[in-house]
Amino acid sequence: MHSEKKILIAGGGPGGMVAGIYALKAGLSAVIFEKNPVSGGECTGWNRNGYHIDGCIHWLVGTKEGRAMNRIWKETGALDGVEIYQPESFTAVLGEKTDLRIWRDPDRLKKHLLEVSPQDEAEIEELTDSVKAFRSFEPSVDKPADLMNIFEKFKFLFKNRKVIGKMSKYSRLPVSEYKKRFTNKLISTAFDQIVPEKYSTYSLFFTLAAFTSNNAGIPSGGSRAFTQRLEDKFVGLGGEIRFNNAVEEIIIENGIATGLRLSDGSVETGDFIVTACDPAVVFNRLLKGNFVDDEFQKRYENSKAYPLQSCVYASFAVDADLSSLPGNCIFAIDGIEFEGRKINKLSVKHFCHEPSFSPAGRSLMVAYLDADYDWWKSLNSDKELYKKEKSRLAKDIAGQLEQRFPILAGKTEPLDMATPVTYERWCGAYRGSWLAFGNTPYSEPLRHNGRVNGIERLYMTGQWFMPPGGLPAAAITGKWTIKRIMKDLS
Ligand SMILES: Cc1cc2nc3c(=O)[nH]c(=O)nc-3n(C[C@H](O)[C@H](O)[C@H](O)COP(=O)(O)OP(=O)(O)OC[C@H]3O[C@@H](n4cnc5c(N)ncnc54)[C@H](O)[C@@H]3O)c2cc1C
Repeated sequence: MHSEKKILIAGGGPGGMVAGIYALKAGLSAVIFEKNPVSGGECTGWNRNGYHIDGCIHWLVGTKEGRAMNRIWKETGALDGVEIYQPESFTAVLGEKTDLRIWRDPDRLKKHLLEVSPQDEAEIEELTDSVKAFRSFEPSVDKPADLMNIFEKFKFLFKNRKVIGKMSKYSRLPVSEYKKRFTNKLISTAFDQIVPEKYSTYSLFFTLAAFTSNNAGIPSGGSRAFTQRLEDKFVGLGGEIRFNNAVEEIIIENGIATGLRLSDGSVETGDFIVTACDPAVVFNRLLKGNFVDDEFQKRYENSKAYPLQSCVYASFAVDADLSSLPGNCIFAIDGIEFEGRKINKLSVKHFCHEPSFSPAGRSLMVAYLDADYDWWKSLNSDKELYKKEKSRLAKDIAGQLEQRFPILAGKTEPLDMATPVTYERWCGAYRGSWLAFGNTPYSEPLRHNGRVNGIERLYMTGQWFMPPGGLPAAAITGKWTIKRIMKDLS
């Protein structure tokens, strides 16, 4: 109906591609400009020495039939023809005498927690009750609050009233405090594995609710295959993606966004401009710092209330089949030097559920360490030192892995290491953060309609517009953005 109207999208990550798909479905024409040679943004995977390193999905909300988010994945082809792997447990804390598993089966989980820590019975009851309440939560995937009428808002609140009640009860309590209610240290270590401890406690309930209701599995083929399906859907519907084509500037004429200046010097004009890259890239680079967004500025200036998430993602080739080990686990180590201090725990996962990710009989293992952007950024100013430190850290981690799991002895080779600097370089991620601002006891809900004050026909989308981000946030906001454009067109 509107195919003469052209939308230009800056960024071919999940958010940009989902926006593109809904634009085409709504009858607009769409072109995506992506700075990298491949689509997918932070949701990616790459090959090294015969292994495939999956760099993103360890849980994807929306894998359960009938749930609101599942409908979005279906509409965008993200799960077309794909089996969903449902891990038995979210994580395992390997203790000295006992192990603790966060089982997917809610009854098994409750029974196990009570066996491991009978003295925490009252808290375990409250935890499992809260998780149960959160299982019914459905986000408003089709419409953002600014497009809802009063009845739709009321309906949304009424439907989710139980969860909203629990959210307000736990919103001012950080996980770091909540975990102290449990006397058992294995339980509090498990919580640290599930969400960052600065986050409000309800984030923990959300995660466990999605996982224990089979609504957060892993699509087979992993992250790269997932985003390839989005790209295929977009192109199949008639969309165009131009790779290696960074957007340098949004062209604004008389307060209207009319086009994009690209890295090859060319200019592309369109009826609507959508940015689906990191908002910091948009404000600082594409808008040349000329427009300040109060909601984002407040967040950039207060890292306590609005923490970010980055990591060191260290991959290892293992000449052994690790399928008998838990897929995800954390354990105590002797202590290795990391960012100038000692760390005493290591969190690792393997990918034996994906036989094609490693040569036959071998396994891919990844160690995940929460990381400080400033530390790595400063180190990276000396490329040789940065390289040397990555290699030293990889060797130390491999040593700890071999010590903890005898099956790995003499069989673990460092393969690859991503740091916060990698995430910044790859996608322009603000301070290397591949998630949006976290929800903490000190944060306020983001009130943003994806527009920049003073510029018409410019729309911002992507995970940063739905804290704390993640793939569902990128996809939902992509759909919302097209709804806003269609409303403006009507
Ligand atoms: C280690 C790790 C684990 C993760 N685990 C999960 C998980 O288990 N579940 C989950 O839901 N999410 C997970 N995520 C988060 C997920 O990857 C992000 O939520 C998602 O990629 C956000 O999509 P987006 O499109 O909003 O942004 P991005 O993925 O950042 O995409 C933005 C795109 O814009 C492009 N771009 C930037 N600047 C320009 C420019 N000037 N011109 C043109 N293009 C530009 C970038 O190259 C990129 O392709 C994980 C991420 C990482 C790194």
